[in-house]
Amino acid sequence: MIKIENVSKVYGSQRALDHVSFTIEPGEIVGLLGPNGAGKSTLMKIITCFIPPTEGTVSVCGYSIFDQSQEVRRQIGYLPEQNPLYNEMYVREFLRFVGGIYHLDNLKDRVEEMIHTVGLTPEADKKIAMLSKGYRQRVGLAQALIHDPQVLILDEPTTGLDPNQLEEIRSLVRKVGQTKMVLLSTHIMQEVEAMCTRAIIINHGRIVDDEKMHNMRAGQLTEKFHKLTL
Ligand code: ADP
Repeated sequence: MIKIENVSKVYGSQRALDHVSFTIEPGEIVGLLGPNGAGKSTLMKIITCFIPPTEGTVSVCGYSIFDQSQEVRRQIGYLPEQNPLYNEMYVREFLRFVGGIYHLDNLKDRVEEMIHTVGLTPEADKKIAMLSKGYRQRVGLAQALIHDPQVLILDEPTTGLDPNQLEEIRSLVRKVGQTKMVLLSTHIMQEVEAMCTRAIIINHGRIVDDEKMHNMRAGQLTEKFHKLTL
């Protein structure tokens, strides 16, 4: 379980997150939906131990971000918004490098398994610099999943993809979500409808709605979201 309790983040005089609380259970694919600047990336960076909250606590699978950050990181696969890949590395070389950081046993087999899982086989012998945006996202997903984490955190995972690439990444996320907890951020409502089991709407650092998708009638998420942006 991911437990976010009363989390606030203040940058200088700006409050990016304002007393945010929610939990995520296994089997959920949660879409964190909000306009640009709502606080989505900030929350993800706190959960993944990149930055500390100003106030509040987070635990991931029972581990605290404050004094058990190594264990928290072990539970999480993270794909940041600017997918930070090493352009000069080959796909296999990069995945072996990432897997090496986690000291994985049978690294070679695990890299091949990941290449297969995310559908990278036709591009696996190329340099990362040569790949399309869609394939770069697959490499990003493979690096996030290589240590078999319980939790997958994806910051705007479908931004900039063409319609085919979009559908492929969506279906990958749905597949992964069958066995893991997934938290993804987006400012595009259709992304939540296409991938998520639950929508959390965030605006000006506050949770303004939290609803399971099967409890919403058609068009209801659109109405809720438009109320914010108008
Ligand atoms: P989102 O991911 O929803 O677009 P962010 O979490 O990136 O939102 O940003 C939330 C708010 O916090 C924004 O107003 C942004 O300008 C501000 N912010 C984010 N990071 C920093 C930072 N390192 N320093 C100062 N302000 C920041």
